[in-house]
Amino acid sequence: MKEMKLPSKVRYILEVLEKAGYEGYIVGGCVRDRLLGKDPMDWDITTSARPEEIKKLFKKTVDTGIAHGTVTVVLEKEAFEVTTYRIEREYVDYRRPSEVVFTNNITEDLRRRDFTMNAIAYHPTIGFIDPFGGRKDLQKQIIRCVGSPEERFQEDALRMLRAIRFLAQLDFEIETQTYQAIQKQAILIQHISAERIREELNKILLSPHPKKFMELEEIGLLSFILPEFQACIGVEQNHPYHSYTVADHILETVEKVPATIPYRWTMLLHDIGKPLTRTIDQRGIHHFYGHVEKSVELAHKILRRLKFDNKTTKQILRLIKAHDDHLEENEKQIRRTASRIGEDIFLDLLEVQRADIQGQSPERMKERLEKIDRIQKIFMKIKEEKQCMSLKELAIGGKELKEIGLNQGKIIGKTLDQLLQYVIEYPEKNTKEELMTLAINLIKK
Ligand code: ATP
Ligand code: MG
Repeated sequence: MKEMKLPSKVRYILEVLEKAGYEGYIVGGCVRDRLLGKDPMDWDITTSARPEEIKKLFKKTVDTGIAHGTVTVVLEKEAFEVTTYRIEREYVDYRRPSEVVFTNNITEDLRRRDFTMNAIAYHPTIGFIDPFGGRKDLQKQIIRCVGSPEERFQEDALRMLRAIRFLAQLDFEIETQTYQAIQKQAILIQHISAERIREELNKILLSPHPKKFMELEEIGLLSFILPEFQACIGVEQNHPYHSYTVADHILETVEKVPATIPYRWTMLLHDIGKPLTRTIDQRGIHHFYGHVEKSVELAHKILRRLKFDNKTTKQILRLIKAHDDHLEENEKQIRRTASRIGEDIFLDLLEVQRADIQGQSPERMKERLEKIDRIQKIFMKIKEEKQCMSLKELAIGGKELKEIGLNQGKIIGKTLDQLLQYVIEYPEKNTKEELMTLAINLIKK
């Protein structure tokens, strides 16, 4: 490809820089993605202008990472990161440069970047600056370090995980020397913060090829990142429903569930407690009694370790806890389950169970999936009819109970729960009159 189409705002930024006597190129992920025929998520620009000079040239800018040379230029609410050419001096602790130094040479800037495919710059009239053969590697679908792989991973060990992330996103291969350097130094990943690791794991899981997660084991990174998953590898499940080992089953289900962070992590961790709960009966059938609770416990530990926010953690744990719940095509039973697990995640649970079924043996798969579809229809009908499944839908609340003389919070809570159980069994009874009568009777007892 000789020419690339750039959005008009990107062209504008490059022109402004140029008119002021500076160089400017698009660089990194956006060049790579355009060369692969994809629409980039964002456009990064690299320039010989210093941050204070960039700020003078544009009306609206934000100091995103001034110390590293990055200024965000805002054009009609759209943001573009403009970064001064820089080199990084002496890395400390295998993760961060001790200082960044600005340079006037684009090739020096490209040299500090991780992989050849990420070290290409482009300008509409000058063309490509590609001193490390990035375009050739893109064509060959190869992930290759710029410079000496061993040194590059020692500078910043996260790059090892980024290599696997790009492998999953692009379905490329890692060049041999780069691969071997990771194998040799995988242990250095221990120096990297949980947040940075989490972001790369998210990208692997959300990628089109989440099964490439297994590459983390092949290359030796898994034991430092997620030893709990490593323990699932090779664990057989001799059971009529299963035709995969625990780890293979897990990755099948990860691939089948919609690509969101809560869904993908729920599947990755839903059976993580299995290796610790396996028993074998006299007929040689494997059982995993208590695996749900064990999985919730391990998942909690893992999500905390990776510093997931509370909201995401809670949602994932709720889904793992419910993942094995038995559902029946019966309104009453569906109301009961939805009320117990929280109706807000009932449809999510169906997605989880669909994925779970698709990761099991093909026998009766179609039948079991059709049953989930019918359960979904029944649930939708319950919702449409506004049948009550939670306290907030109950026709009376704590206020009404106080009016009839209940004053202890604990007793009010207990009574409301009893009323909820009652309307779940008899939805037509969810009226103020019915519930007040019932409440008065309950109090008398
Ligand atoms: P994405 O599509 O995920 O944004 P990306 O390649 O743009 O992929 P970013 O993390 O946004 O990745 O980084 C932008 C560019 O900065 C990369 O293309 C690469 O040139 C460089 N880069 C990012 N992280 C590193 C790193 N750890 N070491 C060296 N260069 C890096
Ligand atoms: Mg990017």
